[in-house]
Amino acid sequence: MTEAFHILKVALDVPLDRVFDYSTDRMDAKIGQYVVVPFGPRKMVGVVVGIANQSTIEAKKLKSIIRLDDEIIFDEASFKLFQFCSQYYHYPLGQTILSAVPSRLKQTDKKAMAKKYLYRLTPKAIQLGVDHLSLRQTILKRIVMALIDATLLDEASLRSISPTWKKAMETLDGMGWIEKEEVKLEDARDLTKATIPSLNEDQQAAFDAILKTKDRFHPWLLFGITGSGKTEVYIRLIEESLKKENAQVLVLVPEINLTPQLESRFRSRFQKFSLVTLHSHLTDNERLTHWRLAKGGKAHIVIGTRLSVFTPMPHLSLIIIDEEHDASFKQQEGLRYHARDVAIFRAKSENIPIVMGTATPSLETWFNALHTKDVKKFGFLKLTSRAVEASKLPNIQCIDIAKSNTIKGFSPYLIEAMRDRLTKQEQSLIFINRRGFAPVLLCASCQWTGRCHRCSSRLVVHLNQKRLRCHHCGHDEKMPLQCPSCGNTDLYPTGLGTQRIEETLKEFFPEARILRVDRDSTRTKEALNDLFLNMKNRKIDILIGTQMLSKGHDFPQLSLVGVLDTDQALYSPDFRASERLFSQLMQVSGRAGRSHIKGEVYIQTAFPNHPLFAALKTHDYEHFAHELLKERELAELTPFAFLVLLKGEAHQLTHVMQFLNDAMEKARSLSNQVTVYHPVRPIMERLKGMERAQLVLQATSRGALQKLLDDWVPYLRENKLGQKVKWVVDVDPIEF
Ligand SMILES: [Zn+2]
Ligand SMILES: [Zn+2]
Repeated sequence: MTEAFHILKVALDVPLDRVFDYSTDRMDAKIGQYVVVPFGPRKMVGVVVGIANQSTIEAKKLKSIIRLDDEIIFDEASFKLFQFCSQYYHYPLGQTILSAVPSRLKQTDKKAMAKKYLYRLTPKAIQLGVDHLSLRQTILKRIVMALIDATLLDEASLRSISPTWKKAMETLDGMGWIEKEEVKLEDARDLTKATIPSLNEDQQAAFDAILKTKDRFHPWLLFGITGSGKTEVYIRLIEESLKKENAQVLVLVPEINLTPQLESRFRSRFQKFSLVTLHSHLTDNERLTHWRLAKGGKAHIVIGTRLSVFTPMPHLSLIIIDEEHDASFKQQEGLRYHARDVAIFRAKSENIPIVMGTATPSLETWFNALHTKDVKKFGFLKLTSRAVEASKLPNIQCIDIAKSNTIKGFSPYLIEAMRDRLTKQEQSLIFINRRGFAPVLLCASCQWTGRCHRCSSRLVVHLNQKRLRCHHCGHDEKMPLQCPSCGNTDLYPTGLGTQRIEETLKEFFPEARILRVDRDSTRTKEALNDLFLNMKNRKIDILIGTQMLSKGHDFPQLSLVGVLDTDQALYSPDFRASERLFSQLMQVSGRAGRSHIKGEVYIQTAFPNHPLFAALKTHDYEHFAHELLKERELAELTPFAFLVLLKGEAHQLTHVMQFLNDAMEKARSLSNQVTVYHPVRPIMERLKGMERAQLVLQATSRGALQKLLDDWVPYLRENKLGQKVKWVVDVDPIEF
């Protein structure tokens, strides 16, 4: 060992929970730098997480690094966050860090440093309007409509409208329709004057309460239905925060809510500040540029989806999470973190307030806000509907399909209500739950149905293409002409799918303009944008869709929502299904009657007396949550207990079961405070040719559970039985 060498502790993207020692003569190496090192026969990218003078490895065996990057990619606060995540979610530190920072670019790309512009329409364009464009100029039209909506758009938003946006912008520029301005970080921009609504009593009270905690850690639940003015409260709080010099604010939103409209609303209110977004529609370069602006303290406001919770922000002074309950905050692969929980930890460790807004809080948050013994620990603020006139809440009714006959899946009441909308030239939305039945092929004589040979699921009929398809693995086959089991030719599709609903409604209303929106018909974001424009311009009478439509957009002429097939979720084996259903139905109901027309919602169900519907009819989340909490307490489920899921899959079921049974025995030997259940098959027993099983750990003490995991997860990693099994540990799982 010589004095002229440093030992670098390097975290690598490998499934081993340890760091690796390398030597270097770079005396300027720092924690947080990217490093390229030899690893076995390969070269790997890692990060420096520690520097030492000596190593336990013999000097002869110690390898030296290949290259060191100058840029420091995380600071001390972020490092603390990574360590917390690695420990809490029991995921190796190297993999945690490398999944949370932007991928390293081989060379600094000049383009990433190029000037950035914001675009807007010229007065000429606004005067002439889209009708001036020819019918075939669809991309130009989309862009112009989006600019009319949002006033100002950046390149990322334009790209999400069309991949050929650049060409379209050149054309518009040639027509004298476009103005662009460089994005400057320091000086104020002259945007169109934003109208600043005044706060009502509830909003003011919420604002005042949160403001009192602006210099310390305090979690707040801001509870209020859509339209109750949560966003305005966020904006005021951000304004207040940014009065402090150099302060930064992080706003987390679900992917689907990060629309150009939201971004533009924030931009117009914060003209003097620099705002960046972080989400999956950005290119790697843009993402890196925005991330660097945040890390360098130059971006004052960061609006982003779940991954942005890890963005280093040296002067972070406030975190806001919109739609706190949204399932997209939970990462479902790799590092299985929940961005809300990580954000709370971050707020605590940086000693700043965190505000979580929603109309339908997750039961965990609801419980924390209302039932924590020390109310001061978790503040609860409610915005009543005063910002929205009560008359505008839709009228929700259940149609008992057990008592009334349905025609091809539709109750006559719903059909009549739709007919009524058509005569009044208003719009209807027919909503089917994502987990609703899809049409399957059924043999009338032997009850045979088409099944996927790789998954335990039924094949879905795609009538137009005459194909059967598996929606889980993508397997695709020709529709048979006769039953493979008995040879009968009387095969027919059964169950409600979006395509079938579309066919049926075309029969009922041949004159109506009907549009179906699902993964098949709306693959691209452009198609979805077209749809929103067509709804706005009243070019659609009836919209058929899944949960894609349940939030984010306002359709002023939409006055009727019909809900089909919710009953599965009422009695699902997944204990969170009803919580999700309630929040989804509340959101989709909110689509009806958002402007001057009163909205109506019809829900077809065989269980009209289910408490979920009773609460929904009165828009009473609080009562629903109260009832649900009673059930959860009896069953000792979240939030009264903490859960961990160990999921395994292999080509042979015996391998999975041996591994899980051994894991169960081990867990039972480690703690008597944790209940360890027997391995069971999930609802999808087989997926993509793999046999699956899982086991659940449950404890009322988070500490006892974590203590068990500290010994159990390393044991599983070492276990030879696990070699043929792909397995993951999911701490605080949200799906079973
Ligand atoms: Zn399949
Ligand atoms: Zn048959």
